[in-house]
Amino acid sequence: METEFSKPRIAGTIDSWCGKCKLILAHTIEAMVLDKPVRVHCNTCKSQHTYKPSEPIKAVARAQPGKARSTRYKVLLNGSDAAPKSYSPQDKYQPGDVLKHASFGMGVVTTAGKDGTKIEVLFEGGSKLLVHGR
Ligand SMILES: [Zn+2]
Repeated sequence: METEFSKPRIAGTIDSWCGKCKLILAHTIEAMVLDKPVRVHCNTCKSQHTYKPSEPIKAVARAQPGKARSTRYKVLLNGSDAAPKSYSPQDKYQPGDVLKHASFGMGVVTTAGKDGTKIEVLFEGGSKLLVHGR
C-alpha cells in the first residue's frame, strides 16, 4: 500500500518548482502522462503550471538576479588565486583582483573604468563602483 501512496497520481500531492512562489512547494497533480505528472497547481498560490521537479536554471538567472549574482560572485572568488588586498582608493586595481572592503567584505574587480578612476567590484551583496588610483 505504501508504494501506491508515494506514486504520483492525479489529485495527489507532489513537490514541484513554483515559478510564482520561486520555491519548491507542495503541488497538486492535475494531469499526468503515463506515470509522470505534467500539470500541477501550487498549493500555496494556486497557480497552474507544468510540473517542474527542480528549479530551472534559466529562471534563477532571470527571476532571481540576486541568486545568480551570488553564484557568479562565488565562482569569481574561487576562480581567482590572487591574494585579497585591503581596499584603498589610492591603489590601482585590475579586473580579477580580489580585494577586501571595510564595509562590503570580499569582492572581485569585474571591470576597470575607461577613465581609470573607477572600478566595478562584485561583492556578495552586489556590484559597487569604487574609486581607485587616486
Ligand atoms: Zn506558488
